[in-house]
Amino acid sequence: MVEAFSSIRCQNRAISLLRRYLEANGVPPGLLFFGEEGIGKEKTALAFITALFCRKRGGEGACGSCADCRLLSSGAHPNLLRVSPENQFIQIAEIRGLKEELSLKAFSDRPRAVIICPADRMTPQAANALLKTLEEPPPDTHLVLVAHRLSRLPPTIVSRCQKIPFTTLPAEDVEEILGGIPSIRKRHSPAEIRVASACAGGSPGRAIPLLAEMEGDRKTWTALFSGLDPAAAVAAGEGWKKAGERKGQIAVPLSLARDLALLSSGAETGIINEDIRESLDAVAGRKNRGRWTRAFHGLLSVVRLPPQAQKRLAMEAFLFDLHRKG
Ligand SMILES: [Zn+2]
Repeated sequence: MVEAFSSIRCQNRAISLLRRYLEANGVPPGLLFFGEEGIGKEKTALAFITALFCRKRGGEGACGSCADCRLLSSGAHPNLLRVSPENQFIQIAEIRGLKEELSLKAFSDRPRAVIICPADRMTPQAANALLKTLEEPPPDTHLVLVAHRLSRLPPTIVSRCQKIPFTTLPAEDVEEILGGIPSIRKRHSPAEIRVASACAGGSPGRAIPLLAEMEGDRKTWTALFSGLDPAAAVAAGEGWKKAGERKGQIAVPLSLARDLALLSSGAETGIINEDIRESLDAVAGRKNRGRWTRAFHGLLSVVRLPPQAQKRLAMEAFLFDLHRKG
């Protein structure tokens, strides 16, 4: 699929800056896209380069159907080079390789572009080696550096690039983006998507692993609610020590306790974790409604403890108490 500007959300400022460069035929040789991870910088870099290469560019960017657009969308355009870390960092050898490639004649008459992502993972030596290319790039060559943290790039690199800022997204937009991805919609309930979106700090890219984590949490907590395994209870308490660092942590057990209280009273609607209702039904039947409602409030009071309190012990005590006979 051809990346188009219209498919990028909430980055109007960056896109209008880029459009202006394209319209004026004045794309700088060094561009630095910066902002949080997972908010669309790389996607935008591809849309921008597609518009730059396109032979029939219009007001909306690339046409999507010319030979260059098609080559770019298949990931095989010879004039687009990509540099990314081979292990953890982009090493000097990779930058040297890039320079060598740029010293050769371009394959087609289109401009040439390089995406370096994440550019803030370059070693100091690699960054140093790139400086000269940024200063005197080969004709019609454009380097797009994509950085999640500007502060990790040497000032010498930053000062040689035009900076394009990207912003985090409102939680509602993150939720809409996630909800629009079929594989996510199939696997996760709307409630889970909402919680993950609210806790992702405005980054759809971060919300996705958060969702996967929540899935594991649901399994753990369903087991904790279904019976007492002292080791699991202690482990859960241990995990609570750092509660607050992961903002979504409480959402899962709270939503489960609430559902259990509802299910034990025979409710048919309003279940958040509808997708695992069957296993929750079985757990709910083990205690009466009053017990589950108390569990929900007990959990809330643990969460509301002040930061300096022993949350680990409080959570352990809560779980042991929940499963106490009588
Ligand atoms: Zn085109």
